[in-house]
Amino acid sequence: MGLAASPQKKRHRQDPQPSPSSPSTSSNPASPIKKIKKSKYANAPPAFLHNGPTSSASKLSNGISSTSVAGTSSSTLAPSSPSRSRTVPASNVSNGLKWTESALKNVDPRIVEARAALPIASGQQAIIDAVRAYDTVVVLGETGSGKTTQIPQYLFQAGFAERHPVQMIGVTQPRRVAATSLARRVAVEMGQPDPAMLPSVKGKARTAAGGIVGYSIRFEDRTTRNTRIKFMTDGMVLREMIGDVAYGPSSKSIASNDALESTSSSSAAVRSNLLLKYSVLIIDEAHERTLRTDQVLGLAKRIQRERKALRQSWLDRGKPSNETEITELKIIVMSATLDADRFANFFATPSRALAANATLTDPKILTAANDKQHVPILYVKGRQHEVTMFHTEEPAQEWTDAALRTVLQIHVSRPPGDILVFMTGQDEIDTLARSLELYSSELPAWAEAESKPLPMSLMIAPLYAALGPSASAKVFAPTPPRTRKVVLATNIAETSITIPGIVFVVDCGLAKEKTYTPGTAVETLEVSEISQSAARQRAGRAGRERSGECYRLYTQEAFKGLALAGTPEIVRTDLAAAVLQLCAMGQDPYTFDWLDQPDATGLQESVLQLIQLGALDIKTLPALNGSDGEAEKGKAKLVLTAIGGKMAMLPVSPAYSRSLIAAGERGPTVARQVRDLIAILSSDRSILVEPSDPEKRDEANKAKSTFIHPTGDHATLLTVLYSYLGESDKARAMSKARKTEGKVDVKVVEKEAREQVRAWCSNHFVHEKAVKNVLHIRKQLRTICRQQKILCDDDLQEKLANSTSAQDEDPSEEESDSSSSSGKGVDKTGLFVTRKTNGISKPSDDEEDTHFTGLRQSLLEGRIANAALKNPSTPNTYKRITSSASAGATFKIHPSSTLHPSKLAREGGGKKLDAILFEELVFTTQTFARTVSVIEPSWLQEFAQRG
Ligand code: ADP
Ligand code: MG
Repeated sequence: MGLAASPQKKRHRQDPQPSPSSPSTSSNPASPIKKIKKSKYANAPPAFLHNGPTSSASKLSNGISSTSVAGTSSSTLAPSSPSRSRTVPASNVSNGLKWTESALKNVDPRIVEARAALPIASGQQAIIDAVRAYDTVVVLGETGSGKTTQIPQYLFQAGFAERHPVQMIGVTQPRRVAATSLARRVAVEMGQPDPAMLPSVKGKARTAAGGIVGYSIRFEDRTTRNTRIKFMTDGMVLREMIGDVAYGPSSKSIASNDALESTSSSSAAVRSNLLLKYSVLIIDEAHERTLRTDQVLGLAKRIQRERKALRQSWLDRGKPSNETEITELKIIVMSATLDADRFANFFATPSRALAANATLTDPKILTAANDKQHVPILYVKGRQHEVTMFHTEEPAQEWTDAALRTVLQIHVSRPPGDILVFMTGQDEIDTLARSLELYSSELPAWAEAESKPLPMSLMIAPLYAALGPSASAKVFAPTPPRTRKVVLATNIAETSITIPGIVFVVDCGLAKEKTYTPGTAVETLEVSEISQSAARQRAGRAGRERSGECYRLYTQEAFKGLALAGTPEIVRTDLAAAVLQLCAMGQDPYTFDWLDQPDATGLQESVLQLIQLGALDIKTLPALNGSDGEAEKGKAKLVLTAIGGKMAMLPVSPAYSRSLIAAGERGPTVARQVRDLIAILSSDRSILVEPSDPEKRDEANKAKSTFIHPTGDHATLLTVLYSYLGESDKARAMSKARKTEGKVDVKVVEKEAREQVRAWCSNHFVHEKAVKNVLHIRKQLRTICRQQKILCDDDLQEKLANSTSAQDEDPSEEESDSSSSSGKGVDKTGLFVTRKTNGISKPSDDEEDTHFTGLRQSLLEGRIANAALKNPSTPNTYKRITSSASAGATFKIHPSSTLHPSKLAREGGGKKLDAILFEELVFTTQTFARTVSVIEPSWLQEFAQRG
């Protein structure tokens, strides 16, 4: 086999725009002419270039300039005693700080050097000064200039996280991988232990071992009472704003024994909504405008002003000692694109939400705290090298094919330097990775045949959200000698993550984007064109360390046709989860401080959906006594119901949380099933391997048939999980028996047990890593269910076991690690894994395990909108029951479903499938429903009547 295309073949054309100064040096495969892509900040509006009010800014011509927007200036005290000196004198530092400074001595000097060389380094003092002087600061800067990794450290060193008992610097990220990898990087830079190595459980060990840096992402909290710099996803901050006890390890250890607890219970709601554990909140990647970031921005604005008012009131009352001292909150908004004015103006103007819904009633204090603010914009000049642009001459037919050819072309014809390929998703990345591996093994033969020098080795490193920390480590590790690294990434590498060593960028021009169409009430993940702004960001990744090249797999005309900027998620997404969260925080979604007001019908629809699920209720306020009583009279107000409150505490979508609550009402067996199924559906990847090779696919389908449940995909997925657990239990039981026999090497026995399970997985086309991820999520959901009093049968068994073995441990304090194959906790794991084999009388319900009726009914209760009836006019098509006439398009069952007509026919068919329930609709050549189960039409009537 030869290469797909001759590497010399001209595929790309250079960007014809003239270059102001083009030092043409090296040649490239397409043309020897070079063109400079200047940093986009070179054309920044003059406001970005003149110096602002902070005197220190003027010193920083090379690093930071500052300007300010709208509003009167206000001065505030830093939450901790501000120190004006450049570095904190040793005598002034607390023990904690001294301790980290000694830890810093162990940091690799190359890292210390690299930090000092970052563009942001010269602006350190200006940043600290600005944060001290103003409530809110906007920081703008190129990706890789050091915003995310450095600013938290600067602020920590300046004493912003020193307050007693504990206050932290929180850094939000839209993406999980960014939160974890950045936390780990900062830990390395600070000489701190790796937070990913912390056990993700409560217990004594975690508090002892934790360092300054931690992270918290959904289903994975790696913080301890030592944590001072906390990276987290936007979703986690939102959860903390609701005051989520389910994520309590840190809040428990931090808040329990401090004064916060001693305030009266009436202020409990307020307390949990005010992020009191944070002195600084850094809202990172604000330009991405995810719905969650927008929510965090709006809430943070209100919280900052409310804390200011509460502090003032406390000061005015002479600092009563029986009350908690409320500190102010510093907010830093960081962005990689030129939208700083937007954010600055947003924070400069008063909060609508606070004005409409204040807990504090003193109008004077309130007005003062909710006044206009002065919000400076700090601008970090990145060091952007020239990037030569190439476009295709004609639109590519198959971009994946074009990507493959382009990577190989670069590899065999361009000088050393790593390649970053921007792709759409995991599947495409995995496929290209396989092809590249294949071609790379053919390269020596190709070189010989063509009498070319032997090219370097290729190292393929995928990078997407679902990858675990160990897999993404390959991306950041230094490239070995005589090797070219090819990183295949989703748009995660656009701004959140900087990958050292990249010289070539290949951009497919597409990204997967969540799209929601109000009226159809179904959210889909669709591949869409990126914006010009995103395309520029992508290209910029090539010029981080030296001049680079960007190969766009689309024409220049196509580039010009792209939207200038991406659409904020809020205008294209289902708002139900956001509305529920806001209501749970006592916020009115209609008066919320939205950066962009969401679509009125979309908002209305979400509210109606939540009312239908029983999460919200509309109450008409009775006339109030008082001056504005008349105005309030008859005003309708959205209130959270008890169910809604419970739903908001569960870290899954409203549909799933409603299903889980419904399952709890159907008994512990159904509760366990639904909980485990939600773990499977919440995982980013499929637990079944779906080979692309048709031969392999047949084999996989055969293997899969042992799991198939006649009711459809939901029960089938659960069967896969339970079969895996049964298998790993069997292996463990065997190795345990062998260990007790004695005379065996324990390690060898354990390894054999692991291999046995691995072999079972590969024979059954079960994705072991994905299953382990599911088990990890399941463990977290288990804790949450216990806390929310959703009783599951495996927990009952554990309780039984604990009482018989006279252990009176709090079940939430110990957590057997069902995903680890170490010997520890095997017995406990075994109890909930092998319901059928352990000796304890089991409260599980065999009827439920056979028919999964309760499971399907509970799922339906959460998502009536995803139920569909057979369309009598066209065979094998369905139509949703709730869709309005205009939006009621028909669709088919996806070929991957166990209920697809072809599969049913093979098994003798005969099933009627009059009504189905599905997880999602996908649009490919036509509309398909994915993950489908059959339901009884009579259930629909029952639930619809109740709604
Ligand atoms: P910004 O937030 O401004 O985009 P970061 O603070 O994320 O920049 O990164 C600053 C620099 O730190 C990067 O240019 C890169 O050199 C280095 N860096 C960041 N993360 C890692 C990592 N995981 N491994 C190695 N170097 C990293
Ligand atoms: Mg960053």
